[in-house]
Amino acid sequence: MSLFYNLCSSSSGNATFVGDREGGLLFDAGVGIRNFSKWLLAQGLTPDSVRGIFLTHEHSDHIKGASVIAKRHGIPIYGSEDTIRCLLDTGRLTGEEEIHIIRQETHLDGFLVTAVPTSHDSPGSVCYRVDTPDGKSVGICTDLGYVSPMILDLMSGCDHLLLESNYDEEMLKNGPYPYYLKKRIASRTGHLSNSQCAETIGRLIALGTRSFSLGHLSEHNNLPDLAYDTSCGYLALLGLTPGRDYTLDVLGKVNDGKVVNL
Ligand SMILES: [Zn+2]
Ligand SMILES: [Zn+2]
Repeated sequence: MSLFYNLCSSSSGNATFVGDREGGLLFDAGVGIRNFSKWLLAQGLTPDSVRGIFLTHEHSDHIKGASVIAKRHGIPIYGSEDTIRCLLDTGRLTGEEEIHIIRQETHLDGFLVTAVPTSHDSPGSVCYRVDTPDGKSVGICTDLGYVSPMILDLMSGCDHLLLESNYDEEMLKNGPYPYYLKKRIASRTGHLSNSQCAETIGRLIALGTRSFSLGHLSEHNNLPDLAYDTSCGYLALLGLTPGRDYTLDVLGKVNDGKVVNL
């Protein structure tokens, strides 16, 4: 049985495992090697069962453990051409890793991974849909800024979706960040707010996606309850009830031990 297991999700680190007890793929590696092993083992999964690390983009909260983990466990790294070039140019990949440039569709050990570009301010940034060997599908959608029709199309009907709910608009407006940073986060090349996340979920439920994890919450501009209430409050206005029409949880900053069976 396939499962979705988020190791960590926030502006300071992101990594998600999709696969089964025999093995699977890691999406982003913004996690130190010790926690990578510890958190996988906590669910009976082993680091050596990870068959590929798919990077969404080159920001450090998504890649900081990639090189060390890939080399230690012999796991190949996959990413867009621009992401890989940027990481090699800046020395964050050393070239000793096994590196593959993704195509729009990449096949690996029975998994199909489909990538779509995002508008996020990082060269070659993508989000992913993964179709598992047993016919399940999961979307990994963080660092969006804007949900393009292509993203919406790709995520339609997924069995589970990790969707960014980065900031509360009021908290960002009144928070400690300098003006330029507030502007960047709220722009189309930044992140999705709780309200934008809620609207996206509403559209996706109409398209057949029913199970969601909210993630990549800002540590300064959001709270888990606020993210949850904003989405559920908006969905209630559409006549949608949690448990009946959809399921939704909010991912913790670091591993909270929850596995979603697909
Ligand atoms: Zn990020
Ligand atoms: Zn980013």
